[in-house]
Amino acid sequence: MKPRVAVFKFASCDGCQLQFLNAEDELLKLATEVDFVYFPEARTRSLSGPYDIAFVEGSITTPDDARRIVQVREASHYLVTIGACATAGGIQALRNWADIEQYRRLVYPSPEFVSALSTSTPVSEHVRVDFEIWGCPVDKGQLLGVVRSWLSRAKPVLPAFSVCMECKRRGNVCVVVARGEPCLGPVTRTGCGALCPSFNRGCYGCFGPADDQNLKSFTDLLAAQGVTGEDAARRLRGINGYVRPWRETADAIAAAKK
Ligand code: SF4
Ligand code: SF4
Repeated sequence: MKPRVAVFKFASCDGCQLQFLNAEDELLKLATEVDFVYFPEARTRSLSGPYDIAFVEGSITTPDDARRIVQVREASHYLVTIGACATAGGIQALRNWADIEQYRRLVYPSPEFVSALSTSTPVSEHVRVDFEIWGCPVDKGQLLGVVRSWLSRAKPVLPAFSVCMECKRRGNVCVVVARGEPCLGPVTRTGCGALCPSFNRGCYGCFGPADDQNLKSFTDLLAAQGVTGEDAARRLRGINGYVRPWRETADAIAAAKK
């Protein structure tokens, strides 16, 4: 029997699960090796667990999410989070620094029908996670690579060095040095091929923290560029802003300015 694969969605935009569908030819080959038994985005028939491997997209933002992720964990042998939402809380974690009641009143005409938690949190704050794939969205090659590793019973390994290293490999002119652009490349993990700096834009950190990040040096660099206080904090409180090292650094910068 082929391994049973499930793809679950929580609070997210669907962009990460779409990377499976974007795999096109590779996906057809993969479908001969595994059985996608639960993937509502891609097929109408959904089978119940147990699942050999579950991919989870999206963060936990409602009481129902908090209950459902426990059920997903119980039904899954190996659980992989895909993307910034599931791995770090996503851009929706901006609510963690705001008043959810105010948001509810401003956004919805009938807020009394909206059941939402006051926070958006990563899956790992609720259940054990076996592997995390970063990115917004995740990289298709990394996604398929993790499936391949799992199928061959090898531990998946993804690079976690900084986007800066990738820029050097590609021969990019540094946007910080040449253009004075604020750029999160020094503290962000590779995986995108240094996409934004390749087009003369600063990185905004969509792949999350690099293993070799030096946040003190990075915030000093921002300050030297005139980016301080709330502005500096906001740079870190983006798509992966709730991940601990960035959250704590941003909170410290914002508090110091008060
Ligand atoms: S990580 Fe980005 S692309 Fe993936 S679901 Fe969340 S918002 Fe969408
Ligand atoms: S350069 Fe940064 S923001 Fe741009 S795609 Fe890569 S990790 Fe994401």
